[in-house]
Amino acid sequence: MYHPDIPVVDLHRHLDGSVRLETLLDLARQHGLEMPAWDVEDLRPHAQVMTTVIDLKNCLPKFALMQKVMVDYDACRRIAWENLEDAVREGIDYIELRFNPGFMAEVHKLDPMGVTAAVCEAWEEARDHLPVKAKLIVILSRHYGPEACQVELDVAIAHRDRGVVGIDLAGVEEMGPGHLFIDHCRRAQEAGLRLTIHAGEWSGPESVRQAVLELGAERIGHAIGAKDAPSVMDLLAERSVAIESYPTSNVQFSMVPSYQAHPLPMWLDRGLLVTVNTDDPGISGIDLPHEYRVLREEMGLGEDEMRQLQRNGVEAAFLTDEERAGLWQAKRPQ
Ligand SMILES: [Zn+2]
Repeated sequence: MYHPDIPVVDLHRHLDGSVRLETLLDLARQHGLEMPAWDVEDLRPHAQVMTTVIDLKNCLPKFALMQKVMVDYDACRRIAWENLEDAVREGIDYIELRFNPGFMAEVHKLDPMGVTAAVCEAWEEARDHLPVKAKLIVILSRHYGPEACQVELDVAIAHRDRGVVGIDLAGVEEMGPGHLFIDHCRRAQEAGLRLTIHAGEWSGPESVRQAVLELGAERIGHAIGAKDAPSVMDLLAERSVAIESYPTSNVQFSMVPSYQAHPLPMWLDRGLLVTVNTDDPGISGIDLPHEYRVLREEMGLGEDEMRQLQRNGVEAAFLTDEERAGLWQAKRPQ
């Protein structure tokens, strides 16, 4: 599975797309919410992707189901905490959990600031009690528009000292093209926040280029749109911009036709700083060990490539040099 001498990291996991099935049922029961089924196995097809999704619209009810149980700040705290517990169960040493405060606040009219504070409380509790290191990334959703994103940026900046290390610009690229967010990204970086951007997901390589050159992305989530554009891949290589990849999510959402067609091995070959992650494990019905298995068994990666991927994750993490050294140190035999 993992190489035992290299820290295990997941840099791209949406905690608001990772609610346990048991927790969905439990919160629904507590708060008198309707559910399409009341048994874990019966609920599974309603919450998780069971076959390849051709039309993303078919999948929106799954995200809505998770959103529905974000009833109050306690529920948000619990969901964040359970994500951290799951990371421990998966043998992860360091995880970056991202979430969109506006999405989590939306259904039950919560305050995005309160949602973020609740997630940060779980992070603080985990820092003191769980054997996993973690950081948080606040997502600005392109399709909520630049104004809503200003609110989310304010929320992120306000929680810098409580685990929030960066922001992510995500969502449908056509509905919120990058140029609308240049100021947001600049402000975030001036405030000392790191920057990752979902790009090349809904549009082609130009949005990846723009994320790097105009917005200053240090890492790109998804990046599939760059797979046929050598000049964009060269740009990522020259600037050591990392790719946060997640093969199963890409296959499930038909971003690539199969595991065998995934560009990850080619990216590795070109020397790109590509990393392996889980995206929305609660929706995909997977965990990080599953992705490592897929890389070996479906995508044919060998020992050296697996080690390189694992090392890339550590290198691309939004950690200080000191924190990164600490992560390596913890892996060395005493
Ligand atoms: Zn994502």
